[in-house]
Amino acid sequence: MLHDRFLMIESKKPLTILLASPRGFCAGVARATEIVERAIERYGRPVYVRHEIVHNRFVVENLEAKGAIFVDELDEVPDDRPVVFSAHGVPKAVPAEAGRRNLLYVDATCPLVSKVHREAERHHESGRTVILIGHAGHPEVIGTMGQLPTSAVLLVEDVAQAEAIDVPDPLNLAYATQTTLSVDDTIEIVAALRRRFPAMQGPKMEDICYATTNRQAAVKAIAENCDALVVIGAPNSSNSMRLVEVAANYGCAKSRLVQRAADMDWGWLESGWTRGTRRLGITAGASAPELLVDELIAACRERYDVSVEEVRTTEEGVVFKLPRQLVA
Ligand code: SF4
Repeated sequence: MLHDRFLMIESKKPLTILLASPRGFCAGVARATEIVERAIERYGRPVYVRHEIVHNRFVVENLEAKGAIFVDELDEVPDDRPVVFSAHGVPKAVPAEAGRRNLLYVDATCPLVSKVHREAERHHESGRTVILIGHAGHPEVIGTMGQLPTSAVLLVEDVAQAEAIDVPDPLNLAYATQTTLSVDDTIEIVAALRRRFPAMQGPKMEDICYATTNRQAAVKAIAENCDALVVIGAPNSSNSMRLVEVAANYGCAKSRLVQRAADMDWGWLESGWTRGTRRLGITAGASAPELLVDELIAACRERYDVSVEEVRTTEEGVVFKLPRQLVA
Protein backbone atom coordinates (compact mmCIF):
# COMPACT_ATOMS: atom_id res chain seq x y z
CA MET A 1 0.00 0.00 0.00
CA LEU A 2 2.72 2.42 1.06
CA HIS A 3 4.70 1.32 -1.97
CA ASP A 4 1.75 2.12 -4.34
CA ARG A 5 1.32 5.50 -2.73
CA PHE A 6 5.00 6.21 -3.18
CA LEU A 7 4.78 5.28 -6.86
CA MET A 8 1.74 7.52 -7.32
CA ILE A 9 3.54 10.50 -5.83
CA GLU A 10 6.65 9.75 -7.86
CA SER A 11 4.65 9.62 -11.10
CA LYS A 12 3.13 13.09 -10.76
CA LYS A 13 4.09 15.28 -13.71
CA PRO A 14 5.70 18.64 -13.03
CA LEU A 15 3.51 21.72 -13.41
CA THR A 16 4.68 25.29 -13.02
CA ILE A 17 1.90 27.70 -12.13
CA LEU A 18 2.47 31.31 -13.19
CA LEU A 19 0.23 33.29 -10.91
CA ALA A 20 -0.71 36.67 -12.34
CA SER A 21 -0.70 39.53 -9.87
CA PRO A 22 -2.71 41.72 -9.34
CA ARG A 23 -5.69 39.36 -9.63
CA GLY A 24 -9.04 38.82 -7.94
CA PHE A 25 -11.03 41.15 -5.70
CA CYS A 26 -10.81 44.87 -6.49
CA ALA A 27 -11.58 47.67 -4.06
CA GLY A 28 -15.11 48.14 -5.46
CA VAL A 29 -16.04 44.48 -4.99
CA ALA A 30 -14.50 44.33 -1.50
CA ARG A 31 -16.49 47.44 -0.56
CA ALA A 32 -19.77 46.09 -2.00
CA THR A 33 -19.56 42.77 -0.14
CA GLU A 34 -18.65 44.56 3.09
CA ILE A 35 -21.64 46.87 2.62
CA VAL A 36 -24.00 43.87 2.50
CA GLU A 37 -22.36 42.24 5.54
CA ARG A 38 -22.51 45.47 7.55
CA ALA A 39 -26.09 46.13 6.51
CA ILE A 40 -27.07 42.67 7.82
CA GLU A 41 -25.23 43.36 11.11
CA ARG A 42 -26.87 46.76 11.47
CA TYR A 43 -30.43 46.12 10.29
CA GLY A 44 -30.78 42.37 10.94
CA ARG A 45 -31.82 39.61 8.51
CA PRO A 46 -32.92 39.71 5.83
CA VAL A 47 -31.33 42.49 3.85
CA TYR A 48 -32.45 42.58 0.21
CA VAL A 49 -29.93 43.10 -2.58
CA ARG A 50 -31.03 44.27 -6.01
CA HIS A 51 -29.12 42.12 -8.54
CA GLU A 52 -26.04 40.02 -7.85
CA ILE A 53 -23.99 42.35 -5.64
CA VAL A 54 -20.97 41.30 -7.73
CA HIS A 55 -20.81 38.73 -10.51
CA ASN A 56 -19.70 35.69 -8.55
CA ARG A 57 -21.93 32.81 -7.38
CA PHE A 58 -19.60 31.92 -4.52
CA VAL A 59 -19.78 35.47 -3.09
CA VAL A 60 -23.55 35.61 -3.60
CA GLU A 61 -24.17 32.24 -1.89
CA ASN A 62 -21.95 33.25 1.03
CA LEU A 63 -23.98 36.42 1.54
CA GLU A 64 -27.25 34.48 1.20
CA ALA A 65 -26.08 32.22 4.04
CA LYS A 66 -25.51 35.33 6.16
CA GLY A 67 -29.00 36.71 5.52
CA ALA A 68 -29.04 38.47 2.14
CA ILE A 69 -31.90 37.92 -0.32
CA PHE A 70 -31.08 38.70 -3.95
CA VAL A 71 -33.88 40.01 -6.16
CA ASP A 72 -34.13 41.33 -9.71
CA GLU A 73 -36.31 44.37 -9.08
CA LEU A 74 -37.36 46.71 -6.28
CA ASP A 75 -40.99 45.53 -6.35
CA GLU A 76 -39.76 42.25 -4.79
CA VAL A 77 -38.52 44.16 -1.71
CA PRO A 78 -40.99 44.53 1.20
CA ASP A 79 -41.57 48.08 2.44
CA ASP A 80 -40.07 47.37 5.86
CA ARG A 81 -36.73 45.84 4.81
CA PRO A 82 -33.51 47.56 3.66
CA VAL A 83 -32.18 47.09 0.15
CA VAL A 84 -28.64 47.36 -1.23
CA PHE A 85 -27.92 48.35 -4.85
CA SER A 86 -25.16 46.37 -6.56
CA ALA A 87 -21.59 47.50 -7.34
CA HIS A 88 -22.47 47.88 -11.04
CA GLY A 89 -24.63 50.94 -10.40
CA VAL A 90 -28.31 51.56 -11.07
CA PRO A 91 -30.36 53.84 -13.33
CA LYS A 92 -31.58 57.00 -11.60
CA ALA A 93 -35.12 55.64 -11.63
CA VAL A 94 -34.17 52.99 -9.04
CA PRO A 95 -33.19 55.22 -6.06
CA ALA A 96 -36.05 57.52 -7.08
CA GLU A 97 -38.52 54.63 -6.75
CA ALA A 98 -36.92 53.52 -3.46
CA GLY A 99 -37.32 57.08 -2.16
CA ARG A 100 -40.95 57.23 -3.28
CA ARG A 101 -41.63 54.03 -1.32
CA ASN A 102 -39.63 55.28 1.69
CA LEU A 103 -37.37 52.24 1.49
CA LEU A 104 -34.16 52.25 3.47
CA TYR A 105 -31.52 51.78 0.78
CA VAL A 106 -27.73 51.58 0.66
CA ASP A 107 -25.96 52.23 -2.62
CA ALA A 108 -22.98 49.89 -3.18
CA THR A 109 -22.20 51.34 -6.62
CA CYS A 110 -18.42 51.33 -7.07
CA PRO A 111 -17.13 54.92 -6.75
CA LEU A 112 -15.37 54.50 -10.12
CA VAL A 113 -18.71 53.70 -11.76
CA SER A 114 -20.30 56.69 -9.98
CA LYS A 115 -17.52 58.83 -11.45
CA VAL A 116 -18.58 57.77 -14.96
CA HIS A 117 -22.20 58.61 -14.06
CA ARG A 118 -21.16 62.13 -13.03
CA GLU A 119 -19.11 62.58 -16.23
CA ALA A 120 -22.07 61.55 -18.37
CA GLU A 121 -24.33 63.98 -16.48
CA ARG A 122 -21.82 66.80 -16.87
CA HIS A 123 -21.65 66.29 -20.65
CA HIS A 124 -25.44 66.15 -20.85
CA GLU A 125 -25.77 69.39 -18.88
CA SER A 126 -23.36 70.99 -21.38
CA GLY A 127 -25.63 69.97 -24.24
CA ARG A 128 -23.51 67.08 -25.55
CA THR A 129 -24.80 63.72 -26.71
CA VAL A 130 -22.90 60.96 -24.89
CA ILE A 131 -21.61 57.89 -26.71
CA LEU A 132 -21.22 55.12 -24.15
CA ILE A 133 -18.75 52.40 -25.17
CA GLY A 134 -19.85 49.17 -23.52
CA HIS A 135 -21.71 45.88 -23.75
CA ALA A 136 -25.48 46.02 -24.30
CA GLY A 137 -27.44 44.52 -21.42
CA HIS A 138 -24.60 44.62 -18.88
CA PRO A 139 -25.95 46.03 -15.58
CA GLU A 140 -23.26 48.73 -15.50
CA VAL A 141 -24.25 49.90 -18.99
CA ILE A 142 -27.95 49.89 -18.05
CA GLY A 143 -27.05 51.93 -14.94
CA THR A 144 -24.90 54.47 -16.79
CA MET A 145 -27.39 54.91 -19.64
CA GLY A 146 -30.08 55.33 -17.00
CA GLN A 147 -28.41 58.50 -15.68
CA LEU A 148 -29.58 60.40 -18.76
CA PRO A 149 -32.76 60.69 -20.83
CA THR A 150 -32.90 57.92 -23.46
CA SER A 151 -32.25 60.26 -26.40
CA ALA A 152 -29.13 61.76 -24.78
CA VAL A 153 -26.98 58.62 -24.80
CA LEU A 154 -26.00 56.24 -27.60
CA LEU A 155 -24.38 52.84 -27.11
CA VAL A 156 -21.41 51.66 -29.17
CA GLU A 157 -20.16 48.10 -28.66
CA ASP A 158 -17.40 47.72 -31.25
CA VAL A 159 -15.41 49.37 -34.07
CA ALA A 160 -18.05 48.48 -36.70
CA GLN A 161 -20.69 50.36 -34.72
CA ALA A 162 -18.29 53.26 -34.16
CA GLU A 163 -17.83 53.48 -37.94
CA ALA A 164 -21.58 53.43 -38.58
CA ILE A 165 -23.15 55.45 -35.78
CA ASP A 166 -25.21 58.57 -36.60
CA VAL A 167 -25.04 61.42 -34.11
CA PRO A 168 -27.33 64.45 -33.92
CA ASP A 169 -24.46 67.00 -33.79
CA PRO A 170 -20.78 65.96 -34.30
CA LEU A 171 -19.65 69.21 -32.65
CA ASN A 172 -21.52 68.47 -29.45
CA LEU A 173 -20.41 65.00 -28.62
CA ALA A 174 -18.62 63.20 -25.77
CA TYR A 175 -17.83 59.63 -24.89
CA ALA A 176 -17.64 57.56 -21.74
CA THR A 177 -16.88 53.87 -21.29
CA GLN A 178 -17.89 50.89 -19.22
CA THR A 179 -15.19 50.37 -16.56
CA THR A 180 -14.46 46.70 -17.31
CA LEU A 181 -13.71 46.66 -21.04
CA SER A 182 -10.68 45.38 -22.90
CA VAL A 183 -8.11 48.21 -22.83
CA ASP A 184 -6.91 47.34 -26.36
CA ASP A 185 -10.39 47.06 -27.93
CA THR A 186 -11.45 50.33 -26.34
CA ILE A 187 -8.44 52.21 -27.72
CA GLU A 188 -9.46 51.05 -31.23
CA ILE A 189 -13.10 52.04 -30.73
CA VAL A 190 -12.16 55.49 -29.40
CA ALA A 191 -9.72 55.95 -32.31
CA ALA A 192 -12.47 55.09 -34.83
CA LEU A 193 -14.84 57.58 -33.17
CA ARG A 194 -12.17 60.30 -33.06
CA ARG A 195 -11.43 59.86 -36.76
CA ARG A 196 -15.10 60.51 -37.51
CA PHE A 197 -15.77 63.08 -34.79
CA PRO A 198 -12.55 65.02 -34.05
CA ALA A 199 -14.37 67.44 -31.75
CA MET A 200 -15.62 64.63 -29.49
CA GLN A 201 -14.80 65.20 -25.84
CA GLY A 202 -13.92 62.50 -23.34
CA PRO A 203 -11.88 61.53 -20.31
CA LYS A 204 -8.06 61.95 -20.46
CA MET A 205 -7.76 58.19 -20.14
CA GLU A 206 -10.71 55.87 -20.90
CA ASP A 207 -12.96 55.17 -17.94
CA ILE A 208 -11.63 51.63 -17.69
CA CYS A 209 -10.82 51.22 -14.00
CA TYR A 210 -7.43 50.59 -12.41
CA ALA A 211 -8.40 47.01 -11.45
CA THR A 212 -9.43 46.02 -14.99
CA THR A 213 -6.29 47.65 -16.45
CA ASN A 214 -3.94 46.03 -13.92
CA ARG A 215 -5.44 42.54 -14.25
CA GLN A 216 -5.17 42.71 -18.04
CA ALA A 217 -1.54 43.94 -17.83
CA ALA A 218 -0.64 41.05 -15.50
CA VAL A 219 -2.12 38.52 -17.95
CA LYS A 220 -0.22 40.15 -20.84
CA ALA A 221 3.00 39.67 -18.84
CA ILE A 222 2.57 35.90 -18.45
CA ALA A 223 0.47 34.77 -21.44
CA GLU A 224 3.35 34.09 -23.81
CA ASN A 225 5.07 31.87 -21.25
CA CYS A 226 2.00 29.75 -20.53
CA ASP A 227 0.89 26.52 -22.24
CA ALA A 228 -2.60 27.12 -20.87
CA LEU A 229 -4.23 29.84 -18.82
CA VAL A 230 -7.23 29.70 -16.51
CA VAL A 231 -9.23 32.74 -15.44
CA ILE A 232 -11.29 32.15 -12.32
CA GLY A 233 -14.50 34.07 -12.71
CA ALA A 234 -18.14 34.01 -13.77
CA PRO A 235 -19.40 33.97 -17.37
CA ASN A 236 -21.44 37.13 -16.67
CA SER A 237 -18.38 38.94 -15.30
CA SER A 238 -17.22 41.32 -18.02
CA ASN A 239 -13.73 41.85 -16.63
CA SER A 240 -13.19 38.08 -16.28
CA MET A 241 -14.26 37.39 -19.87
CA ARG A 242 -11.91 40.11 -21.10
CA LEU A 243 -9.00 38.40 -19.30
CA VAL A 244 -9.64 35.22 -21.33
CA GLU A 245 -9.53 37.25 -24.56
CA VAL A 246 -6.40 39.13 -23.49
CA ALA A 247 -4.60 35.83 -22.76
CA ALA A 248 -5.52 34.52 -26.21
CA ASN A 249 -4.47 37.77 -27.93
CA TYR A 250 -1.12 37.86 -26.14
CA GLY A 251 0.17 34.38 -26.89
CA CYS A 252 -1.87 31.80 -24.98
CA ALA A 253 -4.63 30.58 -27.28
CA LYS A 254 -5.49 27.82 -24.82
CA SER A 255 -7.21 29.97 -22.23
CA ARG A 256 -10.58 29.59 -20.57
CA LEU A 257 -12.85 30.68 -17.78
CA VAL A 258 -13.42 28.36 -14.81
CA GLN A 259 -15.84 29.24 -12.02
CA ARG A 260 -14.05 27.15 -9.41
CA ALA A 261 -11.79 24.10 -9.06
CA ALA A 262 -14.71 21.63 -9.20
CA ASP A 263 -15.48 22.85 -12.75
CA MET A 264 -11.94 22.38 -14.03
CA ASP A 265 -11.72 20.12 -17.10
CA TRP A 266 -8.46 18.25 -16.46
CA GLY A 267 -8.67 16.52 -19.86
CA TRP A 268 -8.59 19.96 -21.52
CA LEU A 269 -5.54 20.88 -19.46
CA GLU A 270 -3.74 17.65 -20.44
CA SER A 271 -4.46 18.03 -24.14
CA GLY A 272 -1.86 19.44 -26.52
CA TRP A 273 1.06 20.08 -24.15
CA THR A 274 4.02 21.09 -26.27
CA ARG A 275 6.92 21.24 -23.81
CA GLY A 276 8.50 19.15 -21.08
CA THR A 277 7.89 21.70 -18.36
CA ARG A 278 4.23 22.51 -18.34
CA ARG A 279 3.24 26.01 -17.46
CA LEU A 280 -0.24 26.95 -16.38
CA GLY A 281 -1.17 30.60 -15.96
CA ILE A 282 -3.79 31.41 -13.33
CA THR A 283 -5.56 34.68 -12.69
CA ALA A 284 -8.93 35.71 -11.27
CA GLY A 285 -11.46 38.35 -12.27
CA ALA A 286 -12.16 41.32 -10.02
CA SER A 287 -15.19 39.62 -8.45
CA ALA A 288 -13.49 36.28 -7.65
CA PRO A 289 -12.16 35.82 -4.08
CA GLU A 290 -8.60 34.55 -3.49
CA LEU A 291 -10.04 31.46 -1.80
CA LEU A 292 -11.07 30.18 -5.25
CA VAL A 293 -7.49 30.62 -6.50
CA ASP A 294 -6.15 28.67 -3.49
CA GLU A 295 -8.75 25.97 -4.17
CA LEU A 296 -7.60 25.59 -7.81
CA ILE A 297 -3.93 25.45 -6.85
CA ALA A 298 -4.74 22.76 -4.24
CA ALA A 299 -6.61 20.76 -6.91
CA CYS A 300 -3.55 21.07 -9.20
CA ARG A 301 -1.32 19.80 -6.37
CA GLU A 302 -3.45 16.66 -6.10
CA ARG A 303 -2.63 15.84 -9.73
CA TYR A 304 0.75 17.41 -10.43
CA ASP A 305 4.06 18.17 -8.81
CA VAL A 306 3.35 21.89 -8.57
CA SER A 307 5.67 24.84 -8.22
CA VAL A 308 4.17 28.34 -8.06
CA GLU A 309 5.79 31.50 -9.44
CA GLU A 310 3.92 34.73 -8.79
CA VAL A 311 4.44 37.38 -11.48
CA ARG A 312 3.56 40.81 -10.10
CA THR A 313 3.31 43.70 -12.53
CA THR A 314 2.18 46.39 -10.08
CA GLU A 315 1.15 46.96 -6.47
CA GLU A 316 -2.42 47.97 -5.62
CA GLY A 317 -3.38 49.85 -2.50
CA VAL A 318 -6.81 51.21 -3.43
CA VAL A 319 -9.44 51.20 -0.66
CA PHE A 320 -12.87 52.87 -0.93
CA LYS A 321 -14.73 54.35 2.03
CA LEU A 322 -17.98 52.77 3.13
CA PRO A 323 -21.21 54.80 2.95
CA ARG A 324 -21.60 56.97 6.06
CA GLN A 325 -24.83 55.27 7.12
CA LEU A 326 -22.89 52.02 7.77
CA VAL A 327 -19.93 53.49 9.61
CA ALA A 328 -20.43 53.42 13.40
S1 SF4 B 1 -13.90 46.28 -11.49
FE1 SF4 B 1 -13.32 48.44 -11.30
S2 SF4 B 1 -15.23 49.59 -11.56
FE2 SF4 B 1 -15.80 47.43 -11.16
S3 SF4 B 1 -16.08 47.33 -8.95
FE3 SF4 B 1 -13.94 46.82 -9.33
S4 SF4 B 1 -12.82 48.77 -9.14
FE4 SF4 B 1 -15.00 49.25 -9.37
